[in-house]
Amino acid sequence: MKIFKHKSELQNYLKHKKTKKGLVGFVPTMGALHEGHMALIQASREENELTVCSIFVNPTQFNDAVDFEKYPRTIGADLILLERNHCDVVFIPDVDEMYQNHQSIHPDLDGLDTKLEGVFRPGHFDGVVQIVYLLLKAIQPDRLYMGLKDFQQQAIIRRMIKVLDMPVVLRSVETLREANGLAMSSRNQRLTADQRKAAGVIYKTLEKAGQNLLKGYAVQSVIDEAIADLQIPNTKLEYFKVCDPDTLDEIKSFNDRTTAVILVTIWWGDVRLIDNLLVKRN
Ligand code: AMP
Repeated sequence: MKIFKHKSELQNYLKHKKTKKGLVGFVPTMGALHEGHMALIQASREENELTVCSIFVNPTQFNDAVDFEKYPRTIGADLILLERNHCDVVFIPDVDEMYQNHQSIHPDLDGLDTKLEGVFRPGHFDGVVQIVYLLLKAIQPDRLYMGLKDFQQQAIIRRMIKVLDMPVVLRSVETLREANGLAMSSRNQRLTADQRKAAGVIYKTLEKAGQNLLKGYAVQSVIDEAIADLQIPNTKLEYFKVCDPDTLDEIKSFNDRTTAVILVTIWWGDVRLIDNLLVKRN
């Protein structure tokens, strides 16, 4: 496994490799890696000759300085996990390396960035757009792998790629979960064992809401029941919404032809957890 800290060295290496016509898959991460990230690495390895993973805790996407500071950093363990999963290349730049001489880009995101997470984390998606753009420019992969766990994020990056006509294909990867349904997340490291166990209720609530939509219950009643189920001591529900997966607008009704995404954000103690579930009739 090759490790690079500088764009120029990484680019030299990839240029040499690309002359052999191999496709390059790219997995951007903020480290504190877990099996969810490894699902992205596996997906990339299955259809590319070379898999590049970046580890960069991007300061511009944290709207809260404390959250940035508390974000887990486990680079030694990350490298072991990547090596074990046969990642080919790891890119670990520092902030100057990524942002020097960067002119911010402002692609038309059609309002996708102002809803849901955008309301609670102002500036967050602008930071995500800048860093993914810079990483794509530096690495020029054929395919980009992102998790459906961050549903809105991958929708925004899909839109950015389209608007800027970037030569890369975005692949979305299903959310990997703990045995109790809790979506794997770097932030879970900050939960106690008891909190992790109890937080399984988030996915159970999503599943129940999904089933209720499929049974034909009114959208608002499904939401109300889920909100009631998520009134739990020492937690704070930020939102629970049923949306159109393309526009991320809230939907008022669900029928046989509808596909919906249910999105939830909840504070579990001082840890902010997000999850979602796609609902459609097969
Ligand atoms: P992060 O390091 O949290 O920025 O995540 C890096 C990538 O891994 C993003 O595309 C995430 O959506 C994806 N990811 C994070 N958690 C999971 C998970 N549990 N299952 C699948 N993908 C995930």
